[in-house]
Amino acid sequence: MIKELTCICCPMGCSLKAEVENDEVISVSGNNCIRGENYAKSEIIAPVRTVTTTIMSDSGIPVPVKTKDPVAKGKIFETVSQIKETSVHLPIKMGEIVIKNVADTGVDIVATRSVK
Ligand code: SF4
Repeated sequence: MIKELTCICCPMGCSLKAEVENDEVISVSGNNCIRGENYAKSEIIAPVRTVTTTIMSDSGIPVPVKTKDPVAKGKIFETVSQIKETSVHLPIKMGEIVIKNVADTGVDIVATRSVK
């Protein structure tokens, strides 16, 4: 089976074709660099995403946050839900961990900006 994807690793957005057999990626074409091949394999075998959103502080000011590393696509809803149910105390420094091991993913949520 051939699966068609668009690489999202850089603005070129190469159109990729991945040959898949028995849940294994046999070959990837259309990529202009190795990142495209790695993206196609990851997207087909175990898709992940970086989640970027805001978390509310107890003083009502939203703090921009993201997952420190990408999380499994199937865990995104749980990740966002936990962030929305949590509030943080200001001040927060950029890079500070605001939630550890979000949704049991092994990934932390970190602030992407300092907020006083
Ligand atoms: S394959 Fe390489 S050049 Fe093409 S979009 Fe992906 S990262 Fe960019």
